[in-house]
Amino acid sequence: MVVKVAINGYGTIGKRVADAVDAQDDMTIIGVTKTRPSFGCDLAVRKGYPLYCTYDEPDKIAAFAAAGYTCHGGLSDLLAIADIVIDCSPGKVGQDNKELYQAAGVKWIFQGGEKHAMTELSYTSSANHQENMNAEGTRVVSCNTTGLSRTLVPLYNHCGSLKVECTMIRRAADPGDSKKGPINAITPVLKVPSHHGPDVMTVRPEIEINSMAVAVPTTIMHCHSIVATLPDGHGLTTETVLELWSSQPRIIIMSGAETGITSTAEVMEFARDIGRKWGDLHEIFVWKDGVKLTGNTLYYFQAIHQESDVIPENIDAIRALMGIESDWKKSVEKTDSAISKYNGI
Ligand code: NAD
Repeated sequence: MVVKVAINGYGTIGKRVADAVDAQDDMTIIGVTKTRPSFGCDLAVRKGYPLYCTYDEPDKIAAFAAAGYTCHGGLSDLLAIADIVIDCSPGKVGQDNKELYQAAGVKWIFQGGEKHAMTELSYTSSANHQENMNAEGTRVVSCNTTGLSRTLVPLYNHCGSLKVECTMIRRAADPGDSKKGPINAITPVLKVPSHHGPDVMTVRPEIEINSMAVAVPTTIMHCHSIVATLPDGHGLTTETVLELWSSQPRIIIMSGAETGITSTAEVMEFARDIGRKWGDLHEIFVWKDGVKLTGNTLYYFQAIHQESDVIPENIDAIRALMGIESDWKKSVEKTDSAISKYNGI
């Protein structure tokens, strides 16, 4: 079976998910939507993805032809031929879209800008793939929550309990954004605790976690500063924590002192050097020399490429919802191996 996938919202996340789907042999892109003719339409045309309008109104569809694009119809036309829709619209428009998907009888996946309460189910590959098998719809959690899950879930699985405090040092805007800030400030998020940490509990409720967040003037990555309290008798050392993470998919561990990669700028340069499309890094980056376990307290930093760590998770989520693969590690292996063919050296 080849799953027919629609992308609703061909922006930062949507265009990346489309290419990741396109790389797989068990799913195919049958169309992507744009709200109006814009430069993103050119990319879809170059890739050969059929273009649809996000809306069904005839005048909005006609605007594409007037701008020189072949538009195959409105969202309803696309949903009529899809098995599943990946909603990559900006956050908080999800409820209305969800009703459209349910009326069309297609499965749906939302992104982290939507609330768990709206989807009633969330997803990360390592935390709860099984729980998502054959579900009607889900939400791939945000880039920060995905990053936290990658390193905390294996720790929790080893220890059997975990208490975590973390600070999200957040990029202010994506590189393609021209209207966001701050550009000359450090802005604490005054909603305390922030939603990021507790959001991990939507995929792994047993992890006790709280977070605070600060926005800083950078566009390239988030950085997490994490303090985890392990239970008595955890049996780990700094070295075996690193070994545990090394055995997990989608985590890169490097020494800042040995490589010279001591900041997010160099992490992103590394991603570009190895030929990653858009300079993306799907993996979470952990600095080996920033990890220390003292007694029961584990300290570490990790960097998150916000535009891309959730991309392979969307592919695994499709396999879970469509009931194709129940073993998360097999899905991850298949996803990453297909993506690596377009992903440089
Ligand atoms: P974006 O603004 O880059 O792209 C959104 C796209 O959706 C645009 O093309 C827009 O025209 C289109 N759109 C607008 N209204 C729509 C509607 N009602 N229905 C369908 N499409 C509509 O946004 P993004 O950064 O790609 O974010 C998409 C989702 O992914 C959000 O939930 C966001 O929180 C989440 N997310 C973003 C990032 C990131 O770093 N950008 C990381 C992880 C998750």
